[in-house]
Amino acid sequence: MGREVWSTGWQRDYGSVMTRHGNWFVWLVGSRIFLCCLPGLGLVTFSLDQVDAISRMATADTEQGLIDEALGLSNAVLDRKARRANPPSREDEREAHRVRALWIQRTLDGASGKLTAHLPHLDLEIVETAIRDKADKMVPDPETGLFDPYSQRMADGLVEVCATTGDQTTTSPPQITVFADLEALTTIDSGVTELGSGTLIPNETARRLSCDCVLETVITDGSQVVGVGRNSRTIPGWLRRLIHHRDGGRCQFHGCGNKGWLQVHHIRHWSQGGATDLDNLILLCGFHHRFVHEHGWHITTSDDGAFQFRKPDWTPYPPPKPDLHPGLAALVDTRPI
Ligand SMILES: [Zn+2]
Ligand SMILES: [Zn+2]
Repeated sequence: MGREVWSTGWQRDYGSVMTRHGNWFVWLVGSRIFLCCLPGLGLVTFSLDQVDAISRMATADTEQGLIDEALGLSNAVLDRKARRANPPSREDEREAHRVRALWIQRTLDGASGKLTAHLPHLDLEIVETAIRDKADKMVPDPETGLFDPYSQRMADGLVEVCATTGDQTTTSPPQITVFADLEALTTIDSGVTELGSGTLIPNETARRLSCDCVLETVITDGSQVVGVGRNSRTIPGWLRRLIHHRDGGRCQFHGCGNKGWLQVHHIRHWSQGGATDLDNLILLCGFHHRFVHEHGWHITTSDDGAFQFRKPDWTPYPPPKPDLHPGLAALVDTRPI
């Protein structure tokens, strides 16, 4: 038998649930359905949720009445009743707080990883609400026109929550350190870029991160450091505020309008001669900033200064509306108002 969780009249373990009192017999069928033999009612079935709720309330004196009552209640009502019958004590809260934990496991190559958290219910509610709030506002993938699976949007939401602490116009998001060879920023295929942990990242990702960052130049003779430049932001604060004002504090990708997780993108990257001035800079959210770097999308500027997004094959996004058929256009032009 497995671990006994409740010490009331019901005994639970990983594989089965059974009652120790009265004449009722409950056992597991498959993994979800429990059968219960009740005098006068014959054989009835309970779902795992119902059995779970009953097991949280039952004592030797109350189990018969609870089983009878449970037959007429929905799972939600039964669960609420069970919760209200077992309000957490101060000791429960202290214990839940004591065992709080967060683990971060990286794959061997460091390219990805897994987060596992164990949080008290209130902290979990705070974290979940904040992430869901962001995930619910994610826009469809412009390449497929579909929303990413919700689990992926939750992952984006988690990153956005972490990346958007503080006032974006005056303070910096949480900082990560990136070491990039100069060639990694200025050319396509040479040089390498690594994070402070030593994990290598693609050079295009380095260009994305360096669009809007604090830059420090270190000159080496191959192995020895021979000079260190001053720290400077690639986007000074006054210019960042101008960009936010011009773009209305929103991501400029068509149909997005995200007001959080904003980054300033160099349309022509500074490492390739692009100027850090208003005409060459645009506000994008983290989700769409990735598209113009790693996905190869383009941004062009029309004569009136409007930004035009283009897919990797240079087709405009969104596609221009088709012209009216000439005959129909003539009809519209001559239609009396
Ligand atoms: Zn960029
Ligand atoms: Zn966006």
